[in-house]
Amino acid sequence: MTTPAAPPVGDSLAHLPVTQLKRVGPTLAARLERLGIRTVQDLLFHLPLRYQDRTRLLCFAELIVGDEALTVGTVRDTAITEGQRRSLKVWLADGTGHGLLLRFFHFSPQQVAAFASGTRVRCYGEVRQGYQTLEMVHPEVQFAADAAADEAAAEAVLTPIYPSTEGLQQLTWRSLMEQALTWLVRLPLIDYLPAEVLSGLALPSLREALITLHRPPASVSLSALMERRHPAFVRLAFEELTAHQVSLRRLRLLQKTYTAPQLIGAGQLCPQLRAVLPFQLTAAQERVVAEISADLAAPRPMRRLLQGDVGSGKTIVAALAAVQAIEAGYQVALMAPTELLSEQHHRSLSIWLALLGIQPLWLAGRHKGKERALALAAIADGSAQLVIGTHALFQDEVTFHNLGLVVVDEQQRFGVAQRLKLREKRAATGDAVHQLLMTATPIPRSLAMTLYADLELSVLDELPPGRTPITTVAVPDTRRAEVIARVYHACQQGRQAYWVCTLIEESELLESQAAEETAQQLTAQLAGVTVGLVHGRMKSTERDAVMAGFISGAVRVLVATTVIEVGVDVANASLMIIENPERLGLSQLHQLRGRVGRGAIQSHCVLLYHAPLSQVATERLGVIRATASGFEIAERDLALRGAGEVLGTRQAGAMQFQLADPLRDQGLIAAAQRTADQLLAQHPDAVAPLIARWLGRREAYGQV
Ligand code: ADP
Ligand code: MG
Repeated sequence: MTTPAAPPVGDSLAHLPVTQLKRVGPTLAARLERLGIRTVQDLLFHLPLRYQDRTRLLCFAELIVGDEALTVGTVRDTAITEGQRRSLKVWLADGTGHGLLLRFFHFSPQQVAAFASGTRVRCYGEVRQGYQTLEMVHPEVQFAADAAADEAAAEAVLTPIYPSTEGLQQLTWRSLMEQALTWLVRLPLIDYLPAEVLSGLALPSLREALITLHRPPASVSLSALMERRHPAFVRLAFEELTAHQVSLRRLRLLQKTYTAPQLIGAGQLCPQLRAVLPFQLTAAQERVVAEISADLAAPRPMRRLLQGDVGSGKTIVAALAAVQAIEAGYQVALMAPTELLSEQHHRSLSIWLALLGIQPLWLAGRHKGKERALALAAIADGSAQLVIGTHALFQDEVTFHNLGLVVVDEQQRFGVAQRLKLREKRAATGDAVHQLLMTATPIPRSLAMTLYADLELSVLDELPPGRTPITTVAVPDTRRAEVIARVYHACQQGRQAYWVCTLIEESELLESQAAEETAQQLTAQLAGVTVGLVHGRMKSTERDAVMAGFISGAVRVLVATTVIEVGVDVANASLMIIENPERLGLSQLHQLRGRVGRGAIQSHCVLLYHAPLSQVATERLGVIRATASGFEIAERDLALRGAGEVLGTRQAGAMQFQLADPLRDQGLIAAAQRTADQLLAQHPDAVAPLIARWLGRREAYGQV
């Protein structure tokens, strides 16, 4: 995409460099630059993280535990306690009958002397509940002459605390903002949002909003500000959401101007593939297949996100799309997040497609030397019609002869850079490539609308028939022996089981160690049962050998880390044990549980938790036990943990908002979309500067 055009001259705060402000030299400018602040506009959009209320001087009786407060009292007594930690205690009284204890761990003899009995002390700090009285630990302290001075010390506005970087003090921020706000009065920023939209939503103008947020008058509700419910804040979040919508919608319009190969073949292969399947497509699969097929036949690049719960049968949908492209004479690339999964796709697709005379090519990291050279040659000359692999498929050394379609499985697992690379892939003719992105993380509609406004959505909202619902139970780990007996029993019945070890830290090493120990234990306790182990630190060849053993049935119990979270499909496995489920997010638990229940046999999932459970953990495990729908679980997960967790941090990072929060601000999204359309249609000149203001160089992310 082109860089946005320069904003109109009138919007000069967007161009006024911070170096124009007083006392901003090269050092300070460099520090600001670290936070992405170059202009006065950038500065004004650097909002306080929180506020301190020094507008009111509270008496001790008014103090609330947990709040920060400004208060005043007279020193009654002091003491230095020697002990594990030497500390200075200062007892204050204020004539209300209540006391306040100040504690200091670092202090000089001069400071001790300053707290002479009878001295008036003004302090600001967090109020804590002490043993006998309220306390403040290391408050800011001023020695006050009299009550009149106290009155003067109370400030007229709430004190903003800015997110900062090393070497930038709050006082510096305040002085910078003071100057920026003066500029704002002289040269107002352009308000790109139409006035009628703002008044319809009862939101203030941009200028008013910025002034309120940087200098909130004492009358403003501190909690409304902190919880970001205040209209001034909502005003800015709404503008940011609108900017995102504008950007994504513009992309969508732009994509419609690209050409792509029309993937229309003789129409023989798809019916052939359907004929070899051991099942009939569900109505949902039929609908989605038709949507995709129509997209592929059009001369515009498809950008479609296919959402479908675990086990909803996305692979066959991808296979039908691939076959359509292949029949039209184009190559297809299928990208999976792990080598394990790519191999599994290769295996299942090979079985289906062999009967059609198509031999998929699997390109793995382990393919080296001559083998690799041959594979690369087959991709380059077009003889490899379907290429399956990980993101390594998009390394520079891989050149396609005539790529027509890219399918990305479990797309939420890919990083931005990888998806950007994907976008650069072109068919030999220079045409854009069709893209089908698949995800098993069902994203609640509101979030999907925010994040994927540039994509078409397809949803597989039905599971194939004949699945017996999985029963889920939560069992404390004190009953581990019982659970092991249950695994043994299942194996005796000819079934297979997964045993998943989890750790909270993202440490693959520790997690792998835990899995190793568990595997040893289970081997010792399950006489005559073959126990296999897979974890992230094994060589992929070893791991694949164990997986192959599990798939063939030679391995009966598979101990694994969360590496098996996505995609693994073994129909005979009917028991899933998840250790420490309280450490995982709901969507992750749901994905793991989805590894069983893939055949007709009754499957069970045992959540082996460690007591005592926190209230939230109890609630979460309750949701998992009661709910089988991935969409419902995602909604709950979103509410309990926030967007970043549902999407995976990587993906959320790609779409990071500065102020808006797609969950909290759900209610604004529809209006932001309407406003975006209105701007694109009626105020095209506002589009580029609005995007520049909020997304700047990050707009590239919106293009994947
Ligand atoms: P996911 O959406 O999780 O990727 P898969 O594509 O792995 O799901 O499908 C899960 C299992 O369901 C596979 O064994 C697949 O062959 C099977 N399957 C897919 N569609 C149907 C269907 N319409 N009827 C019966 N089984 C199906
Ligand atoms: Mg899958």
